[in-house]
Amino acid sequence: MVAPVPPGAPRPNNQHNPGPPSFFPGSQGNSNALADNMQNLSMNRPPPPFGQSPQPFPQQSPSYGAPQRGPSPVSRPGPPAGMGRPGGPPPVSQPAGFPLNRPTGPPSSQPPFGSRPSMPGGPVPQPAASSSGFPAFGPPSGSVPAGPPPGARPMGYGSPPPPGSGMPGGPVSNGHQMVGSGGFPRGSQFPGAAVSAQQALYAQPPAAPFARAPPQPLGAHSLPSTPPLMSPPATFPGAPHGRPAVSGLPYGPPSAQVPPPLGFPGSMQPPRYGMRPLPNQSMTTIPSAMGQPGASVPGPSRIDPNQIPRPGSSSSPIVFETRHSNQANPPPPATSDYIVRDTGNCSPRYMRCTINQIPCTVDLLSTSGMQLALMVQPLALSHPSEEPIQVVDFGEGGPVRCSRCKGYINPFMKFIDQGRKFVCNFCGYTDETPRDYHCNLGPDGRRRDADERPELCRGTVEFVATKEYMVRDPMPAVYFFLIDVSMNAIQTGATAAACNAIQQVLSDLPEGPRTFVGIATFDSTIHFYNLKRALQQPLMLIVPDVQDVYTPLETDVVVQLSECRQHLELLLDSIPTMFQESKTPESAFGAAVQAAFLAMKSKGGKLMVFQSVLCSVGIGALSSREAEGRANTSAGEKEAHKLLQPADKTLRTMAIEFAEYQVCVDIFITSQAYVDMASISVIPRTTGGQVYCYYPFSALSDPPKLYNDLKWNITRPQGFEAVMRVRCSQGIQVQEYSGNFCKRIPTDIDLPACALLYTTIYGERRIRVTTLSLPCTNMLSNLFRAADLDSQFACMLKQAANEIPSKAIPLVKEQATNGCTNALYAYRKFCATVTSSGQLILPEALKLLPLYTLALTKSVGLRTDGRIDGRSFWINYVSSLSTPLAVPLVYPRMISIHDLEEKDIEGSVLPPPIPLSSEHISNEGVYFLENGEDGLLYVGESVDSDILQKLFAVPSAAEIPNQYVLQQYDNQLSKKFNDVVNEIRRQRCSYLSIKLCKKGDQSGMLFLSYMVEDRTASGPSYVEFLVQVHRQIQLKMN
Ligand SMILES: [Zn+2]
Repeated sequence: MVAPVPPGAPRPNNQHNPGPPSFFPGSQGNSNALADNMQNLSMNRPPPPFGQSPQPFPQQSPSYGAPQRGPSPVSRPGPPAGMGRPGGPPPVSQPAGFPLNRPTGPPSSQPPFGSRPSMPGGPVPQPAASSSGFPAFGPPSGSVPAGPPPGARPMGYGSPPPPGSGMPGGPVSNGHQMVGSGGFPRGSQFPGAAVSAQQALYAQPPAAPFARAPPQPLGAHSLPSTPPLMSPPATFPGAPHGRPAVSGLPYGPPSAQVPPPLGFPGSMQPPRYGMRPLPNQSMTTIPSAMGQPGASVPGPSRIDPNQIPRPGSSSSPIVFETRHSNQANPPPPATSDYIVRDTGNCSPRYMRCTINQIPCTVDLLSTSGMQLALMVQPLALSHPSEEPIQVVDFGEGGPVRCSRCKGYINPFMKFIDQGRKFVCNFCGYTDETPRDYHCNLGPDGRRRDADERPELCRGTVEFVATKEYMVRDPMPAVYFFLIDVSMNAIQTGATAAACNAIQQVLSDLPEGPRTFVGIATFDSTIHFYNLKRALQQPLMLIVPDVQDVYTPLETDVVVQLSECRQHLELLLDSIPTMFQESKTPESAFGAAVQAAFLAMKSKGGKLMVFQSVLCSVGIGALSSREAEGRANTSAGEKEAHKLLQPADKTLRTMAIEFAEYQVCVDIFITSQAYVDMASISVIPRTTGGQVYCYYPFSALSDPPKLYNDLKWNITRPQGFEAVMRVRCSQGIQVQEYSGNFCKRIPTDIDLPACALLYTTIYGERRIRVTTLSLPCTNMLSNLFRAADLDSQFACMLKQAANEIPSKAIPLVKEQATNGCTNALYAYRKFCATVTSSGQLILPEALKLLPLYTLALTKSVGLRTDGRIDGRSFWINYVSSLSTPLAVPLVYPRMISIHDLEEKDIEGSVLPPPIPLSSEHISNEGVYFLENGEDGLLYVGESVDSDILQKLFAVPSAAEIPNQYVLQQYDNQLSKKFNDVVNEIRRQRCSYLSIKLCKKGDQSGMLFLSYMVEDRTASGPSYVEFLVQVHRQIQLKMN
């Protein structure tokens, strides 16, 4: 905690203070501490057998999470009488000003953060929880005022929200607010925030566990005792298995630090193909005849497939300074390894723009054919070698803000008049500096204390929120687990896997009196459990009415973890056997979710649902639409669309209410059949949660992933009751939310800033402010040089995913392809320095855009051959996907495994990637392909039996079991393969579900469907696609 200090006084050192939640406490003092823990992982082992206690996670930072705050903040004198303090609460007359207009408790009819977005079909506004919302800036929809009139901008949080098309509420100027609660979708590259630190707590002998008797139909009854199933060990050896670890490099001291790149990343790589490459552009030669309209397209034999642009292999991590010589430094590729030094701009993990220079005019932007959008992930996981985000406490007055636009103090606010005033970098308004914040200016015009104050020299800081920012006391951390115990769930082992995973993550929950838990099970009825310590054993409370649900007394079923831990562990041990004889095939999923919500409504929190079968009875019951859709094939594409849309509005209406009460829902689907993903995924999407899918669930191979996913869900950086707003400097507006756009850019810089108001899991109310300043340009060529491929592609991917449920697939494909060719055409026409029409000329920074666009058109979401649930999952997955995972999803990484032993890869566990083309797959080879979510292990027909023996302990491919579980055998090849998989898991922050694929069967076809460079039923080959793109550019040129 940073205490405010009087002007000129030395500032307390931040280093020994607790960091904000995105930071690994263990790495603050010693960046190796976490690495050491990570290295002890054995990620491939399944979780401990059911019934064993979770392993205590090594204590990492005793001070973290505790209410202690280091040096006690120096109290900041209040504003002098009569002196309006900028940043004080907005006048009551201001529209929807945050705190004054907000209700002071859970709303009765009025949502706490303004009305909730309805999102019929349109782009879904991600709640604050969104890992990667992207406010898109764009051309104006109407005439534009030269500057915002005073008061036109929203005052703090609480103005009518955002977003997407069809959003009611009218224009909102400068800023978009997203509302959500609970957990945040998958974070970025670096896994495993060690947020909770617990010592072994399992020494107590278990009390009597529960009976195996099936639940009785009505009313409450106590559970009879039986002898303990198993005595949990007092301690558990080893580190928790599967804690998502981190790439080897980052976690140690950066071994290979190199100076930050001065130019743009793309320009640093030597062009890998083409002739006479000129600066900032790439070329490939295409016979000119192909380029002529109407000309027949000869075979692509004249293009050497080995000379076309392909992604390179990753290199060792670089240190990236966000600003250099007072200028924004363009970020390294999102997928690369880098360590950020915040020298005035935020880390690109938090905000990343599709173009690292801002076009001065709308015309310039539209001419470029590129989109201007900002990828925002305010709680992205930082790298352990990075400095913690500093927390600044302004005392009672709260952070200094512009009194007009409410922009937060940041490094780009300009102090004038000997520091007595400051000019807002967003709206240009001049405010008086609060008296106690005054500081003289140095000869360079900066405040003399600028380098000591994080809010004046860092792109990201966190302010301690004052009462003004609270509608109630910060909410406690509430975790409610809801488990399917229908016949199918029990018989497939899904219930046992869920109970086991929950059992193990209990030790990851924050400790202390602020952590509450609850648990319920459901089949055709809902069963709550009274976990109060006073009871000898948990009491089951059955809710039979699934049309009009009620809930038992909240204080009985949502209980402090410290009070109910033993009861909870026993219950989790017993549930699978309690329902063992269940013959209930029905599921009251919707009613159960609603009932659990009612139980946690007054507090808010995370609701984690484990679901195995289609919701068939009660509220929100669904039908097997997929089968009906298939039967009605004549309806064709139109009907398929409907299957990708929610069946009705029931679950959406429920979800909106959940979000209003700060309840976030995550759903873990462990199914064997259709569950109508399109309908149920609305709940996580609306509440800032996430969907996990294990299909078809295998009790053999899926439990480790289920456990790891749950653990990451609970331990990654996250916040509760969050509100986010993006502000931009004059001349630029968040178009998607406001519909306004200023043509004129009066200043030479543009500064998107994102403010996230949230509550940490330890109950601290914080405002995380991230600021990004980018230069403006009048030059089209600068825009192309500053193009950010990863952000542009992520933006394209998300737009396509949004459109799939409402548009014909060929149309979505065409739009993606047009997006690609428009940008390339603009470059070709206005920037390319070579004019031969036979050449396809690509901007260096975007040379891979055609490849990724092609891959997108062949991706799961845009193919019709898959399951409807599979496509719905893909669409939903994309909506919360972080930028670094966008490209891998459609253009996975493929590496060869059979020759791992022969390769001596310098400085990297991973061999270089292989192009995704079947030409590169040998019958004698074993290959591993991963997209950040799934891993496919492909075994050719004629693999040497020695290799098979080493990798699988069987002599022939036919003998490898189809339900593959990765094992490590005592030989070098097997060890290296395990190292490779673990390294990928660390990099992707994902456990990966590994499937075996054999040539010649269905699984082999699945693998080959990822060979996006091949010509397939779903599209042309890469070379053919380049020819197509080239021809389209030629057509436009003429
Ligand atoms: Zn302002």
